[in-house]
Amino acid sequence: MINVTVWHENWQDKQDNVKAVYPNGIHNCIADFLKTDEELNVRTATLDMPECGLADEVLESTDVMLWWGHVKHGEVPDEIAKKVQDRVLRGMGIIFLHSAHFSKPFKLLMGTTCSLCWREGDRERLVNIAPNHPITQGIDKYVELEDEEMYGERFDVPNPDEIVFLGWFAGGEVFRSGCIWNKGLGKVFYFQPGHETNPTFHNPSIQKIITNAVHWINPNTIADEIPCPHAESPEATWNERHPNKQI
Ligand code: ZN
Repeated sequence: MINVTVWHENWQDKQDNVKAVYPNGIHNCIADFLKTDEELNVRTATLDMPECGLADEVLESTDVMLWWGHVKHGEVPDEIAKKVQDRVLRGMGIIFLHSAHFSKPFKLLMGTTCSLCWREGDRERLVNIAPNHPITQGIDKYVELEDEEMYGERFDVPNPDEIVFLGWFAGGEVFRSGCIWNKGLGKVFYFQPGHETNPTFHNPSIQKIITNAVHWINPNTIADEIPCPHAESPEATWNERHPNKQI
């Protein structure tokens, strides 16, 4: 089983225009489709919970985290953002969705401003440029989203290790919409679609991409710490370990 935590600031979801699209909140919509996968053990955590729902016992039992935030990034304590970053560096997989590009953990992991340009009320063609990647299995050449917020370049992030989707918007802009970075022992996937008033997380292709990403980003192991030890030369014990090949 993969232990998945869906983190959400759960703030705009109390407004009518967001409730109309996500009556139980974006986090529960995401958790509900992930729960249909029997290999996933899914829970949610929100900003209004004690310690933002990310107490040590939650964080330390999470293999893959998903993060959606927008207007309340600043209310996540620095200490919690650092703990999330630290667990990624030790191996946890993390998926940042849409406006999470400005979240504290994403900025810490990237080390850049993570700025971009945006405009609400566009349509998007998400182009699958890595058809052999595990994240894109079962996805066509394009995913067309009738309503999605335009996110445009320049996206101020370090060059990704892999790009799996490019976004094209009807207004003319383009964007690196599905990016992967290796950070320490962990992997980071940024996926651009998912504006709060658009039904993006109800789209079966988007659900498939996110589910694929959870499986692919799941680490084999997560280290307790990343030590920086003084190293004895393995050659010092060669004769002991290879009695028939003395040097
Ligand atoms: Zn948005």
